[in-house]
Amino acid sequence: MELRHPFIVAIALGVPGVGKTTVLRKLVELAEREGVKVRVVNLGDYMLKEALRRGYVDQRDKIRYLKLRQQLELQIHAANAIIAEASKTLKEGDILVIDTHAVIKTGIGFWTGIPRILMETFKPDILIVIEASVEEIISRQQRDTSRYRKDVSKPEIVKSLMDQTRTLAFAAALMTSSLVKIVENKEGKIEETARTILEALKGLM
Ligand code: ATP
Ligand code: AMP
Ligand code: MG
Repeated sequence: MELRHPFIVAIALGVPGVGKTTVLRKLVELAEREGVKVRVVNLGDYMLKEALRRGYVDQRDKIRYLKLRQQLELQIHAANAIIAEASKTLKEGDILVIDTHAVIKTGIGFWTGIPRILMETFKPDILIVIEASVEEIISRQQRDTSRYRKDVSKPEIVKSLMDQTRTLAFAAALMTSSLVKIVENKEGKIEETARTILEALKGLM
């Protein structure tokens, strides 16, 4: 089994509302300006598409309340679809960034978003942990009414998810000899955060 894909793979991790999707959108913009090919995919989008098709849910924030075996099927389906697509469209030196979570707070308990099977599918060069202060995260969650995050908005839950995200990132990195990069997404500094990530990715090319 190959240790890496021909293209560079990064997995972006962070608690709900820290700003992953927003920062990664900016990353694509910065990369385009420099002629660096970065494709960002959201693993939740792939899970949602399949969950909708199967009639499991009607919106993304309900996925984490599905039966764990259904979530597992969707998770593996999403990972395989992402790599199948990327393998067709990306070439050596291009960069795939997967917007996802290290830990999911399900209805029953905490579940890992980067288990061995996904790590072996993605073979990531780098795991990017996006962080902010607990207060900033909660205030971002509150301002963003497009998502349901009330179940992950208590300070002690945010803190615990942050700790678990770091711990799981390092644990998962052991499986695939991946780098871990911790990036602070400071308030009002979306572009700076995206720039830090782009520089790290360019360092891998
Ligand atoms: P989820 O895991 O639930 O998908 P996320 O990590 O992708 O969450 P976003 O949806 O990108 O989070 O961001 C949540 C909110 O925080 C958005 O309203 C976004 O505009 C805002 N935000 C993101 N980064 C910053 C920042 N650096 N400063 C201020 N607001 C920010
Ligand atoms: P997001 O928009 O990134 O919050 O993703 C939407 C939903 O998809 C999350 O709330 C989870 O239920 C699910 N999801 C995303 N990534 C993963 C993952 N790696 N493992 C399991 N579920 C995930
Ligand atoms: Mg997001």
